[in-house]
Amino acid sequence: MSAARRALAESRGFIFDLDGCVWTGDVLVPGAAKVLGLLRSQGRGVCFLTNNSRARAQTLQAKLERLGVQAATHEVLTPLEILGEVIAARFGPSRVLAVGGPELEQAVLDGGHSLVPVEQFREAAVVVVGNDFAFTYERLTAAARAVAGGAAFLTPNIDPRLPLEDGDFLPGCGAIVEAVMVGDSVDSDIRGARRVGLTAVLFAPKGGPDGVAHYMVRSMAQLRRLLA
Ligand SMILES: [Mg+2]
Repeated sequence: MSAARRALAESRGFIFDLDGCVWTGDVLVPGAAKVLGLLRSQGRGVCFLTNNSRARAQTLQAKLERLGVQAATHEVLTPLEILGEVIAARFGPSRVLAVGGPELEQAVLDGGHSLVPVEQFREAAVVVVGNDFAFTYERLTAAARAVAGGAAFLTPNIDPRLPLEDGDFLPGCGAIVEAVMVGDSVDSDIRGARRVGLTAVLFAPKGGPDGVAHYMVRSMAQLRRLLA
């Protein structure tokens, strides 16, 4: 049995990307609930890792439940769960210009920081940028000028390793070094997983590049057959 096959057979934990892997928009990926149910019935740990910068764990846990996937809040890891800690660790308690959704703003506040109104961007020591459905030219201007004026720039969204670098957080999902990462993005999920030594499964319904992941599956049913 190959090392990668053994990892699939023996790993005690599985990490699933959410967008494009467990769900697409508001629709569950076909077969995803069965794969997750199989892993749970086998007594293996499951957690969900996303670089979603708009939603906190509780929101995504509620969405999983709504779509019929059992999950606990502590099994969902999002950048917003560690954002406040990361800002505090790097810059101390900070005045933050947040360009992002309301949950990102709340995460900043929960980290012990204060929010700078967009028109007072010059007072910001840190600019945090997440996906912002209310993005405006005014916000872009404020963020650009604040950074140009010396504010630190931080985004949870393009660094696939950000959630994995926080040793305090990831152990909560259990057996991380023995886990398998299942994701649909080569750049973030697969490369990020391999960089930290995880077995990587690329979920690619339309096919994908060979050789970047240990396994490529085109359907959740195919993944289930590998796990049964
Ligand atoms: Mg994805």
